[in-house]
Amino acid sequence: MKDLTCIIIGGGYAGLAALKAIKKKFRGMEKKGRRIRFVLIDKQPGHLRKLRLFRPTTAEEEIMIPWKQLLLEGFEFVQGTVTSVNSRGKRIRYTNAIGNEARICYDLLVVAVGSTVRRLNAEQGGIALIEPQAAEDIREHWRTNLRKAVDERDPEERKRLMTITVAGAGISGIETSAELALAMRKEAATLRLNSADISVYLLNAQERLPPEGAEKVGRKLDQKLSQCGVTVLHNRKAMREETGIVMLNNGDYLAAGLCIWTIGLMPNPVLQGMGLPLTTEGQVLVDECYRVQGMPDVYSIGDCARIIDPRTDKADQMTCLEAGMQGIRLGKIVMADLEDRPAPIHKSVKSNMDYFNIGLGQNGFFWIRKWGLDMTMTGKVPGKIKNLVEDYASMLR
Ligand SMILES: Cc1cc2nc3c(=O)[nH]c(=O)nc-3n(C[C@H](O)[C@H](O)[C@H](O)COP(=O)(O)OP(=O)(O)OC[C@H]3O[C@@H](n4cnc5c(N)ncnc54)[C@H](O)[C@@H]3O)c2cc1C
Repeated sequence: MKDLTCIIIGGGYAGLAALKAIKKKFRGMEKKGRRIRFVLIDKQPGHLRKLRLFRPTTAEEEIMIPWKQLLLEGFEFVQGTVTSVNSRGKRIRYTNAIGNEARICYDLLVVAVGSTVRRLNAEQGGIALIEPQAAEDIREHWRTNLRKAVDERDPEERKRLMTITVAGAGISGIETSAELALAMRKEAATLRLNSADISVYLLNAQERLPPEGAEKVGRKLDQKLSQCGVTVLHNRKAMREETGIVMLNNGDYLAAGLCIWTIGLMPNPVLQGMGLPLTTEGQVLVDECYRVQGMPDVYSIGDCARIIDPRTDKADQMTCLEAGMQGIRLGKIVMADLEDRPAPIHKSVKSNMDYFNIGLGQNGFFWIRKWGLDMTMTGKVPGKIKNLVEDYASMLR
C-alpha cells in the first residue's frame, strides 16, 4: 500500500491540535504497516503563543516556542510561507526560509493559516498589536514616555506621557489594558512618579462589556478593570491617532502618549491568493466536516475557515478554544473519510453554554452562562486556570 503524506499548513492552536489528533488516529494504521509521513509547514521558526501576545507589552517574555520544545513528536517541520494549493496536482507551493520557491505533494492537507489583527488604515497612527515585535515596541514606547515624564515640568504634557489608549475592547484589548495599567503603575512608583497619574483608557465600541454577557457581568468586569487602573469608555471608537492626540468617533479627543489598536481579527490575507474557495469575508468555505469545497482530501479549520454548526446555523468564532476543538474532531473525520464511513459533523462548543476566561494581570475573570444562569469567578484561581489552559493549547512540555 502507498505511503501517505499528511501536510498541515500552520502550527497555531488549530494546526497543532489537528496534527496531534490525526497522528493519534493513524496509530492503528501504522501498526498494520501503513507508513504515514507528517509534515508541518509554518512561516515561523516556532509556535507563536498568540494568546500571550500582550505579555511582552509589559515584560520580556518569549512567546515563540521552538517546535522541538513542544509535546509533539514524529513530524517533519518545514519553515516556509505557503502561497498556493493545487488540488488537481495535490501539491502546494511555498517560499522557503531563504526565499526560494519550492513545492511539496500531499495526500491529505489541512489548511490552518489562522488570522491577523485588523487595522483601520495606514494613517491610523499608534501601534496595532499584531506580532511579538509590535508588543516589544509598545513596551519600549511607554517606558520611554515614563522616563520622559520624570523630567517634564508641564503637568499637561506629563499627564499625556503617562496616558495610554487601547482601542478595541475584545478579550485582547481587555487583557492588554489591564496588564499595561498594572505594569505602568508599578514602574511609575519606581521612578517616583505619582502612580495615580497613570491613565489607561479602554475604548469599547459597544454599550457595555462583554456584549454576549449579562449587564451585571459587564458591570463586574468594569469594576475589576477599574481596580487594575483601567477606565472603560463605552460607545467610543478611536478614529485615528496623530501627534499624541487620539480622535474619537463622537468628536472628543484624548491626549495620550500611545494608542494601541486591538480591534479584532480578520482571516489571514494570504488566503486570497491560495486558490481555495473563500467567503466574501475571506474565510475558507468548508462543509460540516471541514472539507474544503471542491477540493478532495483538503480540510480547513481554525480562524481561517468559516465553520457553521448545522444544528444552529451559527458560525464558530475566532477563538483558540474553538480552533482546538475543531482540530480534535478533524482527527476522527480524516480517519472516517479514509475508511469510507460517515464522519462526525461539526458541533459548536458554545452550542449549549457560553463562557470566557479573561486574564487581568495575575488574576482572571471567568464567566459561564448555562441554563440561563450567569456565573462568574474572579481572582487568582481563574488566572491560574487560564495559564494552564494556554500551556495545554500550546502543547508545552
Ligand atoms: C492578542 C490576541 C489575544 C487573544 N486572546 C484570546 C483569548 O484570550 N482567548 C481565545 O480563545 N482567543 C484569543 N485570541 C484568538 C486566538 O488567538 C485565535 O483564535 C487562535 O490563535 C486561532 O488559532 P489558529 O491556529 O486558527 O490560527 P493562528 O494562531 O493564527 O495560527 C496560524 C498559524 O499559521 C501560520 N501561517 C500563517 N500564514 C502562513 C502561510 N502562508 N504559510 C505557512 N504558515 C502560515 C502562522 O505562522 C501561525 O503559526 C487572541 C488573539 C490575539 C491576536
